[in-house]
Amino acid sequence: MNKNIKNLNDEIFTLNAEFSADTRVDKINGGIGIYLDNIGQPFVIPIVKKIASSLDFSNFNYLPISGDPVFLEESSKLVLGNSLYKEYKNKIIKQGTDGGTNGLFIWASLIKFTNPNPTIIVSNPTWENHKKIFKHCGFNVVEYNHINKLGFFDFESFQKTISKYPDSFILFHGGSTHNPTGVNPSTEEWKKISQITKKNNNYVLFDFAYLGLGENIEKDSFPIRHFLEKKNKIAVVISYSKNMTLYQHRVGVLLIPTLKIKAKENNETIIKYLFRLVNQTPTAFGEIIVKNVLSNQEYKKEWIKSLSEMNKNIQKRRELFNQYTNNLFSEVVHQKGLYSLLKITPKQTKILKNKHGIYLLSTGRINFGGLAINKIPKLTEAINSLKI
Ligand code: PMP
Repeated sequence: MNKNIKNLNDEIFTLNAEFSADTRVDKINGGIGIYLDNIGQPFVIPIVKKIASSLDFSNFNYLPISGDPVFLEESSKLVLGNSLYKEYKNKIIKQGTDGGTNGLFIWASLIKFTNPNPTIIVSNPTWENHKKIFKHCGFNVVEYNHINKLGFFDFESFQKTISKYPDSFILFHGGSTHNPTGVNPSTEEWKKISQITKKNNNYVLFDFAYLGLGENIEKDSFPIRHFLEKKNKIAVVISYSKNMTLYQHRVGVLLIPTLKIKAKENNETIIKYLFRLVNQTPTAFGEIIVKNVLSNQEYKKEWIKSLSEMNKNIQKRRELFNQYTNNLFSEVVHQKGLYSLLKITPKQTKILKNKHGIYLLSTGRINFGGLAINKIPKLTEAINSLKI
């Protein structure tokens, strides 16, 4: 295969196919970002399952180009909270998308449509698809260092980098679930970031792929709500893949709050045009499930309870992992979300795969969401044998 074409292969899905083909019964998949239950079985949130099995299948007509109107309103309310939602209700551009990825692609296409030479600042590392999407859509991608020597968010590197790029776009991972590191700015740092990016005239995109899977909906939404309260220019992409366990049904939403009605109308027209080019209309199955969960207080409560149980399980896995590796990776206990970046080399991840049937990304990213409790002893024994 031509080398340039080979570079287009996606590591996560390639690794996942290798994992599926591996015949070792005690293999462990720490790669792809899905949540499994504590004994490693696929998991669908009970209220999502209940609604899915009660849906009316007598009408499969197209949704409107923007998506289901109730789904869009409920999604806005979820991330903005009641008071900001009231303030912005009629001032938000809303587009249902086919998962978070499609939302990022549509946002990037919108920006490129109206800006000939956009620059976006992203963390290094970040989810590897980010750079691919923005480069493909014609952005100049600039990176800052995400983790400092002490293992915290590298505020200095961020500040230094953005000071060189006034008026640029900035990508943040929504809330407290940075992929792949699990390391996020503190509340105070978010407040400072809001101030300096406003001064620097940056437009911030929050990629919110794990809403509710960091701490909870309210805490995870803090940066977005704070930036809006301070009148920063922002857009938000929410994915319902992980937090509703709807991965394959491709549900997401792009929200762009704006105070200028004329700009809103123009951007809505452009988004609909671009969305139709690629998708025609959003997929309906997942939007309808999410709409049902969010618009019924009892269902919503059940969903939030499930998220809280998932978070508790992830935390327990992090703690057990730390215990079994004798505090060698103690930082994982304080990190949030599904992932952490283990300090192991690409060569060591290869040894884990070939010798032990343990699949981690070559960067050392591990997915605690998919790590069954009963697999932790085997995983940690193999990691301990690397003599790090
Ligand atoms: N952004 C980040 C940071 C992600 O980790 C993911 C999923 N791995 C996505 C976006 C895309 O999610 P979706 O499956 O909804 O397209």
